[in-house]
Amino acid sequence: MANPNQNNKNQNQNQNNKNFFNNNPLLAFALFSIVLIMLFKSFVGEGEGIGSMLQSNVSQTKHVKYSQIKEQIEQGNIKSVKLTPSTVEAIAEISGQKIRYVAQNVPTYDKDLIPLLEEKKITYEGVMGSGWFSEIISMLLPILIFFAIWIFLANKMSKGMGGGILGAGKADKLINSEKPDTKFDDVQGVEEAKDEVKEIVDFLKYPERYIELGAKIPKGLLLVGPPGTGKTLLAKAVAGEASVPFFSVSGSSFIEMFVGVGASRVRDLFAQAKKEAPSIIFIDEIDAIGKSRASGGQMGGNDEREQTLNQLLAEMDGFGTDTPVIVLAATNRPEILDAALLRAGRFDRQVLVDKPDYEGRLAILKVHSKGVKLAKNVDLEIVGKQTAGLAGADLANIINEAALLAGRFNKKEIEQADLLEAIERAFVGLEKKNRKISDVEKKIVAYHESGHALMAELTKGATRVTKVSIIPRGLGALGYTLHLPDEEDRFLKQKHELLAEIDVLLGGRAAEEIFIGEISTGAGNDLDRATAILKDMISVYGMSDVAGLMVLKRSQNSFLGGGMISTDYSEKMAEQIDSHIKQTLNERYAYVKNTLNEYHDAIVEMATILLDVEVIEGAKVREIIETFEKEHHMPSRLAHSKAPKQEEVQTQTANNQG
Ligand code: ADP
Ligand code: ZN
Repeated sequence: MANPNQNNKNQNQNQNNKNFFNNNPLLAFALFSIVLIMLFKSFVGEGEGIGSMLQSNVSQTKHVKYSQIKEQIEQGNIKSVKLTPSTVEAIAEISGQKIRYVAQNVPTYDKDLIPLLEEKKITYEGVMGSGWFSEIISMLLPILIFFAIWIFLANKMSKGMGGGILGAGKADKLINSEKPDTKFDDVQGVEEAKDEVKEIVDFLKYPERYIELGAKIPKGLLLVGPPGTGKTLLAKAVAGEASVPFFSVSGSSFIEMFVGVGASRVRDLFAQAKKEAPSIIFIDEIDAIGKSRASGGQMGGNDEREQTLNQLLAEMDGFGTDTPVIVLAATNRPEILDAALLRAGRFDRQVLVDKPDYEGRLAILKVHSKGVKLAKNVDLEIVGKQTAGLAGADLANIINEAALLAGRFNKKEIEQADLLEAIERAFVGLEKKNRKISDVEKKIVAYHESGHALMAELTKGATRVTKVSIIPRGLGALGYTLHLPDEEDRFLKQKHELLAEIDVLLGGRAAEEIFIGEISTGAGNDLDRATAILKDMISVYGMSDVAGLMVLKRSQNSFLGGGMISTDYSEKMAEQIDSHIKQTLNERYAYVKNTLNEYHDAIVEMATILLDVEVIEGAKVREIIETFEKEHHMPSRLAHSKAPKQEEVQTQTANNQG
């Protein structure tokens, strides 16, 4: 069992070495030069050794100036001379002792030397060998090193320029090109997102059909969701299902290099994708380049990013809707994207790739446990239950971590204990990132959201519930209730609808008070919104007796350094408004609490389901309420019965601690 592993390791290492040199031509060259110099040195050194052996009677070697040697020649002390293009070596015999004079940096244009040697009858020889060789090397080496550095830099730059100076035709390593065999079955727990991207597969498979019909193929699609939820995986699955090439690049890699490289890399990316159309381009972390120009922050802006973004916009506008290249981009911060990116013909479609619910997690765990050996005692359902709030990548990690743990104890199969240990480790890691919700928090959120949901279903003028979830979503929200308005395109709201909205908002806090017995900070945002609605009703819409038809807008004067609020109504009126708001909120709150108490067990049932599977569909909410009413022989107060519509409104439980 151990041997094949080791072999593998060695192979990997070999490959690593190869890659290492391929990736570092400069380093390879430097090493090569050093070896060369060392060889050369030892060769020359040996030469010197032989020389001194032959002239074993030389007692001394003196390094002198050329003029000194010439002087010695003129004085007749020199017996023999060795000339190289840059050195002169002269053997002198002074009072029976042989001395060797060596002069470096000889002026080779000294035409008088040879006649002088002839005249003095001194034996001389020219040595081309080592001197000449070393001359060449010492001249060439700096040039070669310079050349190597140049190639190195040029290659680095050409990664963005496609081809580039010398690396012509070399594949760009930062643009990843592959033909993935990922399938939709590999992506689980994001069914809605999968449904949305499925039609793209058809476009890519049979582009002619759509082009002939004159249909416009969508160009860009933005996958939005927290990290690790499978956005990349989903994009790959689209390519895999359509069996088209998949070009991927990370937004952050565009802007770390030299100025101008980002833009040319974008050009390159699109050129490659168009050449191999139908194909998919995937840009991960698009927020790195697509950050709103307004929210740039730094003074002087970021030219590189802007250039890259402009190039991206130009490329997306550049190819027609008859080119079957689809650009998928991923982000977990859609709110900071530049509006230009989201315009029609660019990323005008957004797909939510959310964290999985219990069923989704179970499915993901199953996908990832296919490749590992699970013991019979393993119950993935328990693992699914204990991993609320985790994304697909976390779950994949848990399986892998469990396999590593089992391996460490030399087990043949992964046991439940390994999985539970791996879950714990995952949460310890996440706790540092503040992503874990405690059981207490979960319970609070479950009742809070159930309170919203009940009020939404019982109040005329409120929007019906589509889905209630306690899966934490991204930053700031611990849970949410999705509402759909009953009618399409509402521009006007009637008074009773505004009041209904307030009741629904208060439902969250009321539920916390009744069922938890204590109020959390989670309702802060709801109360804020409820207060704002009431204020507007009084001061903007003239919907109260306090101000009648008078519009009482307060204007904030930011010109005078903020904080200055000028009111165009009296202190007395302000007091009246405040007390009216307070009174109305109290009345509504009492009514809401009453209602929740009346439907006590229905709320408990909803919250229990939420705590179990984290999500309830709107239909199930209505079913619970209906059953409850029937059991208690109450007249039905359900306010909605029409089919759901498209637009989505959300009430979120704010996470004020985080
Ligand atoms: P993202 O791009 O949203 O950050 P990735 O697609 O890179 O997430 O997910 C990383 C890895 O986690 C995937 O390669 C896969 O192994 C696993 N994974 C994440 N989400 C899912 C999912 N919904 N279904 C199956 N595996 C998933
Ligand atoms: Zn709320």
